[in-house]
This record gives sequence, C-alpha cells and structure tokens, in this order.
Amino acid sequence: MPPPGGRLGPGFLSEEELKNKPKVTKALLLRIFSYLKPYWKQMALVLLAILLSAVLSLAPSVLTGNIVDEGLIGRDLNKLIFYIVLSFGVTLLANLIGILQSYLNTWIAQHITYDMRNAMYLHLQKMSQRFFTSNNQGDIITRMTSDISGVQQVITSTLTSILSNSITLIVALVIMFRENWLLALVGVAIVPLFTIPTRSAGKTRWSITKESQACSDEINGILNETMSVSGQLLVKLFGMEQREYDRYEEVNRKMIKLNIRESMAGRWFFMVLSTFTNIGPMLIYLVGGIIMMHYDETVTVGQITVLVALLGRMYGPVNQLLNIQVDWIRSMALFTRIFEYYDMPVEIENAPDAITPESVSGEVEFRHVRFHYDPEREILKDISFWLDKGRCIAIVGPSGSGKSTLINLIPRLYDVVDGEVLFDGTDVRQLDLAFLRKNIGIVSQETYLFNGTIRENLLYAKPDATEDELIEACKQANIYDFISSQETGLDTVVGNRGLKLSGGEKQRISIARILLKDPALMIFDEATSALDSISEQKIQDAIEPLIETRTSILIAHRLSTILAADEILVICDGEIAERGRHEELVGKGGVYTQLYETQFSRATVTAAAEQQSYSEGESDAS
Ligand code: ATP
Repeated sequence: MPPPGGRLGPGFLSEEELKNKPKVTKALLLRIFSYLKPYWKQMALVLLAILLSAVLSLAPSVLTGNIVDEGLIGRDLNKLIFYIVLSFGVTLLANLIGILQSYLNTWIAQHITYDMRNAMYLHLQKMSQRFFTSNNQGDIITRMTSDISGVQQVITSTLTSILSNSITLIVALVIMFRENWLLALVGVAIVPLFTIPTRSAGKTRWSITKESQACSDEINGILNETMSVSGQLLVKLFGMEQREYDRYEEVNRKMIKLNIRESMAGRWFFMVLSTFTNIGPMLIYLVGGIIMMHYDETVTVGQITVLVALLGRMYGPVNQLLNIQVDWIRSMALFTRIFEYYDMPVEIENAPDAITPESVSGEVEFRHVRFHYDPEREILKDISFWLDKGRCIAIVGPSGSGKSTLINLIPRLYDVVDGEVLFDGTDVRQLDLAFLRKNIGIVSQETYLFNGTIRENLLYAKPDATEDELIEACKQANIYDFISSQETGLDTVVGNRGLKLSGGEKQRISIARILLKDPALMIFDEATSALDSISEQKIQDAIEPLIETRTSILIAHRLSTILAADEILVICDGEIAERGRHEELVGKGGVYTQLYETQFSRATVTAAAEQQSYSEGESDAS
C-alpha cells in the first residue's frame, strides 16, 4: 500500500512527528501576514468595520441601563420609547456594517487564495520529475484544493473572529469597570477558569487534525489510483474489487472515527465552558443585590442590569476566542503544510547567466556522466559519447539498464550527478531551459495525449500552426489516412489520455506533434509494449525519413530501427558495454549478440510472419 503523502507515514503520526509538530513562530505569522499585505487598504476598512460594529453591538446592552433606570423605574414613557428606538437603530446600523464587513472579508479571502493557488501552481510547475514521481498525486491535489480553501476559512472566519471578539471584549470590560468596578471584578473572576480546559482540547485537536489530514490524503490517493481508467482496468483484470473496497472501507472508517473524535474534542470543551458561563450573571445579581440593599444605595437596578447584559456579551467572545485558539492551531498546521510545499527547493532552474544561442544544430555530447535517483544505487556510470549534427544513435540494452534515464538528462528532466551533458557544445545547465526544451522533441514510450481533439493535441506543439501544416505533419507521421477516415477528422475527440485510440495511433499522433514542434534534436523512445507489426511498420515508415535528416537518438527495441542508426550504443547496467554498427557488434558474442538473438531477431521473425499473413489476407480479400 503506498504512503498517503511524502511527509506523513502510511498510517498516522509517529511519536517523532508528534514531537516535531510545527511551532507557531513569529516568522510563520509574518509570512502569513505577507499574503494579506497587498490588500492592506481593504483590511483597514475591515478593521474599521469590525471596530464600529463591535462597539455598536454593545450599545443596546448599555442602553438597557437607561431603559430600566430612566424609562421603567423613572416612569418616563418618552424616554423609554426614545431609548428603545435608539437601541433598535444602533443594532440595525451594526448589522449593516456587519454585511459590508463580510463582503470585504470574502473578497480579501478569495483574492488571497487566488494568489496562493497561482503561486503554488507556478511553483509546482518548476518542480522536477523527481518530485512528481516520488509524491503521491492525491497529496498534491489536496494541497492545491482543500488546504488552500482552508486558508479562506481562516481569513473569513478565524481572523475576523479574533479581531471582532477581542475588540468587543476590551470595550465591554472598559464599560463594566466604569459602571462598577467591584461588580465587574466579580463577573470576570470566573473567566480564568475557562483557560484550563483550553490547553488540553487544543492539544487533542491538533493531533487529530493532522491525523485526519493524513487520512484524507490516503483516501484521495486510493481514489486517484483505483478510479483512474488504467487503475480500474488493473483492478478488474486482477479481480481485486473486494481487496480495493476493503482498503477503501478501512481508511473511510478510520476517517469517520477521527472526525467523531475531532468533533467531540470540541464538544466536551464547550460543555465545560457553557456551565461556567451561567454562573457569572447569577453572581452579579447576588453580589449587586447585597451591595445595593446593604452597602451602597447609589448602585441602581439599571447598573446591575447593564453589567449582567455586558457580561452576557463578554462570555460569547471569550468562548469564541478560546475556541479560536483551537481553530488557530488547526490553521497553523494548515499553513505549515502549505508552506512546506512552497519551500521545496526548485531542483532544476535556469542558471542566472543562462545562454540562449542564436542558432542550433542539435549536437549532443555526454562526458563522463554519472547519475542516480537514490545515492545507494548508481544508475548511470561514466557514460561518454558524442552525437554529431544530422546523425543518429540507437541506444539498446536490457530493460532497466538506464536508457530512458540517459535521455531524460538531455532536456534536464533531471540533472547529472557528475560529468556533463552538452547540447550544441554547451553544458545543458548553462543553457536557457526554454531554449533547450524547445529544441528537443521526445516521443516517449508512454504517449500522453490530453483529453481533447486530435487538433488540440497537435496545436499544443505549435499553437499557430495552419491547417496545411497540421495535415502535412499528419501525413509525414503516417496518421493522416486514419484521421481522414474519422467522421470528424482532426476534430475527433481522443478521450481521457487518448484512450479512445490504439497505442500505434497515439504514437503516430505524437510523432506528428513532434514534427510540428520541429526540434533540432529528436529523441524517440520506442515502445516496448507489443504493437502489431502493421502498426509498427507504419511508425517505422514515419520515423525513418525523420532520422535521415535530423540529429536523433533512438531507444530501440526493434532491429529495423537499430539498422537505421549510424551508431549503436549498448547500455548494460548503466555503462556503455559496446558500441559500433550492427555488423560489427552482432558477431562479437557480447551483450548485443545476446540481445540480437533473444529480442531483435525474434521480433523481426514475428514481424515478417505477421506482414506476410497480412499481405496474404489482403490478396485473398481482393
Ligand atoms: P526500459 O527499457 O524497461 O524502459 P530503461 O533502460 O529505459 O528500461 P530506466 O527507465 O532508465 O531503464 O531505469 C533505470 C533504472 O532506474 C531502473 O532500475 C528503474 O527502476 C530506476 N528508475 C527509473 N526511474 C526512476 C525514478 N524516477 N526514481 C527511482 N528510480 C528510477
């Protein structure tokens, strides 16, 4: 079972990860606020709106004192009505300001998440192939979607809540102490008791949050793997439906348990808090009553009412602030996860003094190249060769010997560990990346076509190609007959990843795509998968004229391709074991001879047999 993400282990947090949980540092906070900076004007408006609505929302509580003392006890109907209307007007105004505030908040949050998503996408695009091969796709998608959406929640809810509740709390405290300091003290004496359960609830929630995020990555990973076209195919063909269901069901159950635990961690916390909340007002009525009846006759019923009302208004924000502390910790975990992605170093970058040559020949040279994915296992060991302009090299070797790895070093999908790869006489690391990749065309083993039409896929290589150019490229790639036999021609939809087409058709479309790109160096990674010999012949006919005129490298599995090359490099276990032309190598009794006897000749014999039966079939039909 693959791990749910690169950072977290396959199941849940290890002890060590728990110990090393991210700390909320000043640097982290400053970094978060740096995303708010471009919107400081809107933020200032929000702050003003929060301040106004917090103060205004407290006004009705203060006005209850006037309503009780001047209106009710003073038996003055005019004043009673005046204060009631005033209270209503103030509440209305506070709510209107609240609407403006939430609009601004949403606006800011949306723009910040927009910025963050774009920045993340740009950053991910710069990541090397190593990143994409070693990271789970589900994990990447979660970070791009739900984690960044979580940021929106932090801004619209957590941040606003902190500001508005803090302001309400401070203003309420000031008014309470001005009304009657003794009663105010009694009311707030109970507040510190809230902080006791906060710590433990926060801690529990922190660890559950991370666990459930890991679990969610795992679910996404499973879905991505098994709900993809090829994944489902594999599941069906191996009859693994039950096993995959069990795997999914297990993680799903894990998720449910975590969600329940997470929600309950908050519930117990609230229960304790709300119990304490009810004690405050009763204490004020009691102490206020005693003071008013026995010690200080200047204390009015209105004053006691104001204090009780304000205390009611205060516990809400305290409650929420304590809850926010828990949410805040959760948000920090979210930001930490996002920033971890932002901070992943870009492995393959343009050199600051990158060169963009004016002309290009496509010449390639490897000088003592060494490469490994994992330091423990060297894949390429001291590879040196030179490919002159207009010539063609065929690379052959057993499966896993490092052929694809070797060609991936030319467009810098990976960088060499030692030695140099030169393109047109310059180290590829010194060349402008865009220039380098523009001048190299790779037809890879696994042809990737985007879900769209054939035309769209072809235009990917040359967006401004004319209809004639498209047709010409298709003709050269031997795919035009197929395209014109389709009802919608170039506008035929290729389906998800081109799955509506056969392997051979896809390859020929990708050859047409490369022809439109017109690169100086052509690399053709011949598919090892069995294509029938007719399709193979068609591909062969398409590439042969190409390699005659272009500098090219072929990773070859078939004799006909090998014979077309000017030189053959035999790679074995990451080294060039033999090199030369077919006639020179075939009698040597080395790796090439073995390959020839086991692979190439058999493929040729089969191909010849198929070709013959096809021709016979055709002549029978005619
Ligand atoms: P084939 O003919 O089967 O395509 P190949 O000669 O092209 O094989 P490579 O794909 O270059 O072989 O792989 C060489 C070795 O490197 C293999 O053992 C493979 O497992 C390993 N390898 C390939 N890609 C990666 C990767 N992204 N991370 C780690 N190891 C890799």
